[in-house]
Amino acid sequence: MPKKRKSRGRHKGGKGKEYMVQCDECGALIPRSKAVKLTRPVSVVDPQLAKELRKQGAIIPRYRVTKYYCIRCAVHRGIIRIRSEEERKKVPSFW
Ligand SMILES: [Zn+2]
Repeated sequence: MPKKRKSRGRHKGGKGKEYMVQCDECGALIPRSKAVKLTRPVSVVDPQLAKELRKQGAIIPRYRVTKYYCIRCAVHRGIIRIRSEEERKKVPSFW
């Protein structure tokens, strides 16, 4: 049977079951290997204000927030894109 993707859209390989994660956008339960993991630095202070405070010598902490997205939400938010037939065969970078 022809496959759309070499990895069948996951990266668990021959492993059996694996733990589920919840999508941070819609709350859907998805397997860890199928989820899109995104780590972004988040500042608690407004960027314009943070720039000025840093100029005056203040140290503003930046936190790293890791979020999981289901494929639907990741496509909708523009984190991943629908890929062409050849592109689909490659291992994506977001795993
Ligand atoms: Zn979702």
